[in-house]
Amino acid sequence: MRILIVEDENKIALDVARALEASGYIPEIVSDGEEAWFLGDTEDYCAIILDLGLPELDGISILKRWRAAANSTPVLIITARGSWSERVDGIDAGADDYLVKPFQIEELLARLRAVLRRTAGHASSLIKIRDVLFDPRQMRLCVHGTPLSLSQLEYRAISYLFHNRNRVVPRHEIVEHVYGINNDRETNTLEVLIGRLRKKVGVDLIETRRGLGYIICDEDDRTDNPK
Ligand code: CA
Repeated sequence: MRILIVEDENKIALDVARALEASGYIPEIVSDGEEAWFLGDTEDYCAIILDLGLPELDGISILKRWRAAANSTPVLIITARGSWSERVDGIDAGADDYLVKPFQIEELLARLRAVLRRTAGHASSLIKIRDVLFDPRQMRLCVHGTPLSLSQLEYRAISYLFHNRNRVVPRHEIVEHVYGINNDRETNTLEVLIGRLRKKVGVDLIETRRGLGYIICDEDDRTDNPK
């Protein structure tokens, strides 16, 4: 899952990026407001972590522009301690949650997970589909109660599919959220990756929709479409 970090304080940006990467996300850092606005509008992120005090264009203005353009990417704002009016403005402008600096990285990760699952319409972070249990907090996938050993790329792919379950996810979109945008992967690289995952999670979980992409369905929504 690609996450944009908009933060002009280099140390904070790097700390957050490292923590996100260790949690299986693909972080991208931008420090300039104008560029952040452009990227948020043109690229496909699962969430955006937005500092409010930025050079060129402040965070609230960026957020207002995104929302005015019907960009509904979840946004978690980070603000300086004490500026409660900024937080109110941020939420009124369409932020999904906020954190006050300095914050613990674990709290940022927990709030990010909450924002991601709320925007996907799910109340719980644990997802169980048939015999497979996905636990994003532990970055773990269990089959019949046994944790699987997954590579970083496998984890990124399966977590993206779980997060977008019941939706056919196009191949190019998965490639982008597994390998990042600066890649020259062929889609057959993805097919190999999906093949490896199927050996681990069972052949039924990830369904192929020919010419369209892949989907993980809840039991109730399963269709009789050919795999
Ligand atoms: Ca700042």
